[in-house]
Amino acid sequence: MRLVADKMLAKLARWIRLGGYSIEDAATNNDDSLIKYVRARHAVLLTQDEALANRARRQRFRVLLVKGNGIEEQLAFVAKNLGLKLSTKPSGICPYCNARLIRVDKSKVKLPGKIARRYRVFYKCPKCGRVYWHGSHWKEIESRLKEAKRMEKSL
Ligand SMILES: [Zn+2]
Repeated sequence: MRLVADKMLAKLARWIRLGGYSIEDAATNNDDSLIKYVRARHAVLLTQDEALANRARRQRFRVLLVKGNGIEEQLAFVAKNLGLKLSTKPSGICPYCNARLIRVDKSKVKLPGKIARRYRVFYKCPKCGRVYWHGSHWKEIESRLKEAKRMEKSL
């Protein structure tokens, strides 16, 4: 199942990637081009725009009108409605550009000394060049993903 998020949902898309699923950002703000793009890919469109969702439905392709306040609630809604099993383990997908991360040798990346000394496994995004490691910041990501999973059960 291919997923595309409209521009308003760029932040949610990052969280979907953190939860283990690949989702494309819409390359356009224009509804017509967006609809064309999503149809050509047989993707599911995620949007909060009711008018766009109705148009998409009339044209008979799958669209999910995302409900919920805040990231956790929205994630829970998407997971429930699309049957995603959100993972709290690092996903291997760049949250910013949806590219597969590549494991890199520590000597190949520039990092603050403290981080380089403390962690051993690093990943790099081939597209944007960001470097990732499973550091203390993951605790917060993990707890928000867990919260989303907990909320999903009560939907
Ligand atoms: Zn990237």
